[in-house]
Amino acid sequence: LHGKYVFIAEGVRGSLAKTIMARHNLCDDAQPQKYGIGLKELWQVPADKHRPGLAQHTTGWPLDEFTGGGSFMYHFGDRYVAIGYVVHLNYKNPFLSPFDEFQRFKHHPSIAEHLEGGTRISYGARAITEGGFQSVPKLSFPGGVLIGCSAGFVNVPRIKGSHNAMKTGMLAADAAYEAVMAGRSGDQLVEYQTAYENSWVYKELKQVRNAKPYLSKLGTTLGGAAGLFDMWFSSILGVNLPWTLKHGKTDAGSTEKASKHKPIAYPKPDGKLSFDKLSSVFVSNTNHAEEQPAHLKLLDPSIPIRVNLPLYGEPARLYCPAGVYEVLYDEQGGNPRFQINAQNCVHCKTCDIKDPSQNIVWTTPEGGGGPNYPNM
Ligand code: SF4
Repeated sequence: LHGKYVFIAEGVRGSLAKTIMARHNLCDDAQPQKYGIGLKELWQVPADKHRPGLAQHTTGWPLDEFTGGGSFMYHFGDRYVAIGYVVHLNYKNPFLSPFDEFQRFKHHPSIAEHLEGGTRISYGARAITEGGFQSVPKLSFPGGVLIGCSAGFVNVPRIKGSHNAMKTGMLAADAAYEAVMAGRSGDQLVEYQTAYENSWVYKELKQVRNAKPYLSKLGTTLGGAAGLFDMWFSSILGVNLPWTLKHGKTDAGSTEKASKHKPIAYPKPDGKLSFDKLSSVFVSNTNHAEEQPAHLKLLDPSIPIRVNLPLYGEPARLYCPAGVYEVLYDEQGGNPRFQINAQNCVHCKTCDIKDPSQNIVWTTPEGGGGPNYPNM
């Protein structure tokens, strides 16, 4: 890369950003980054069900009190309904499947009534940063900066981050322009860090900093109420409460042993409102060439069967929303082996984040294989 300054804007859990943060110790003074996985479908519904402009958010069901998450639904355009569900990736039960929670969610009577008689036309999944204020790393390194979701500027309670991504891009651009005009290149753009700390992005993230830790520590009802009180206090009275709660463990480290939990019996998809993973991958327009080098790499190929299967039931089978990871057995039900169907990957990055052994590394596949999300 020959740019005088390189802006890293790869979105959540980017491969370059991850490497740069480790190489330059950018996270040393930050809390661990937190994540959610968002699953989304685009539907086209009958005209009598379409309510253009309707935006609806929910929290809770079908997740339990101590598993964070919630839904979104937007009616728009030509009888389109975008519907999705986010599961916070600090969940403890290794048998939980975010994909199946989303499928189950659509069967709630007050959700199903929006979709019945309609057609699901697209599907996608993507991780979201949720760490916010406490998890923002040092932003500059020699010759470059992190902007947008590479640094984790999402405002979780407001469910938005595009405005902060744009603003931090503008702040970085201003800092780089001044530096280049002064004849500088390749050094640390510390002015961008200062500009961020004096910006409304910093102020906005600081105001809501305790919302996510409250949810993690106190659960959806109590934690939600405590977060609302904290945010109202700071936004209405203009006074930030004096404490900043910590996030604690990484999302991978939050996964508990299988022996502490029971498998979850998810209902079979009905093919009308709920679907299986493979038909979902089909409508994500993902088609990686099967002979390309596998882009999902295991640091130690023995860990899925030797460690993850006995301790955690190999949760990759369940957290991956595209059916990429399977544990296969021989005809007698023995000799488990780990299979990676890399061609199905929809690039959500969840495996890179949630694998309890931190053994899976997501690298960029060949271009052009999708997923491809028209209208999503
Ligand atoms: S393989 Fe990883 S990045 Fe790809 S869809 Fe599955 S969890 Fe997401």
